[in-house]
Amino acid sequence: MADSFRALMIVEDAGKPRAVFRELTLADLPDHEVTVEIAFSTLNYKDGLAISGRGRIARRMPLVAGIDLAGTVVDSRSPDWTPGDRVVVNGWGLSETEWGGYARFQRVKPQWLVRLPEAFSLEQAMAIGTAGYTAALCVDALEDWGRMEPGGSEVLVTGAAGGVGSTAISLLSSKGYTVTAATGRPQAHDYLAGLGASGFVDRASLSQKGGILQKERWGGAVDSVGSTTLANVLAQTVYGGAVAACGLAGGMDLPASVAPHILRGVALLGIDSVMAPGSKRERAWATLAGHLDTRHLDAIARVEPMSELPRLAEEIVAGRIRGRVVIDVG
Ligand code: NDP
Repeated sequence: MADSFRALMIVEDAGKPRAVFRELTLADLPDHEVTVEIAFSTLNYKDGLAISGRGRIARRMPLVAGIDLAGTVVDSRSPDWTPGDRVVVNGWGLSETEWGGYARFQRVKPQWLVRLPEAFSLEQAMAIGTAGYTAALCVDALEDWGRMEPGGSEVLVTGAAGGVGSTAISLLSSKGYTVTAATGRPQAHDYLAGLGASGFVDRASLSQKGGILQKERWGGAVDSVGSTTLANVLAQTVYGGAVAACGLAGGMDLPASVAPHILRGVALLGIDSVMAPGSKRERAWATLAGHLDTRHLDAIARVEPMSELPRLAEEIVAGRIRGRVVIDVG
């Protein structure tokens, strides 16, 4: 194992979080039971907020940033994991209160680990990342609601060209649903059609306040935007439909009425990836293994070195990243 390795850390500087590259040794890592040699991490919106300092993500400093990691177990004091196991960690407070994935090695708790399905390489696991795994949690939740039918009413995906949206489109179309993408980027239509979207909505049409009950259109929806967009999506969902809400790219508020819920029985399903229990995680990764076309995955992902993270963080927060960025931590 390497004597020292580079990590991207969040440190406190004059009371504010600041991202810096530091050299670490294994002795610097937290004393958790499983040591993972990380091959790749990734860049999520939340990572962008943490690195750029535009959001207070790190609640304990200093810590290694990066909310996801994929790698191989190299040492374990847990009976559940042995050296050579291919694993992923998504969330669990990584980059918030726990040390995360922007380093060659990390020590983690055994219960945080998910065994990576054979279907994916470590690089593909991070092309999926928290964004893709959250998309799978959304799709599982919508299917559990039990009213969507392949070939039935259209399913809407907002924030379509983003990480969650891109993966949600790919999963839903592979399951046979008719998928409509809400995006602010007309230049992304071909890309989204390639992932399986068959219809498009301009995201601006959802960001203006609309009626509390609008024309019923969506049999289900995956929403990563929140705010007025989510309120409009709820108001356009068919009787008995459901919306899986996971994001706030358009705002944290929800200027909505209860009308869709009490007059149309529409369900608002909240999706959290960070503290989701192991059983939901395993199911989400199985959904990804069963339904995510790895050709789509390769089309939506690109690999960047860790040194590019400060620039890429600004880009993702500004909404200029399409698809997924995999980070090579080597
Ligand atoms: P990305 O930045 O990759 O994608 C977000 C997309 O939202 C953009 O590509 C854009 O889509 C759209 N968007 C951005 N700004 C606005 C706006 N002002 N109004 C309307 N649409 C907008 O982020 P991710 O896909 O990684 O994450 C999406 C959201 O989900 C984030 O808010 C993130 O914090 C949240 N999230 C939550 C999780 C959970 O556990 N609940 C886990 C993972 C993510 P387009 O260009 O197509 O218009």
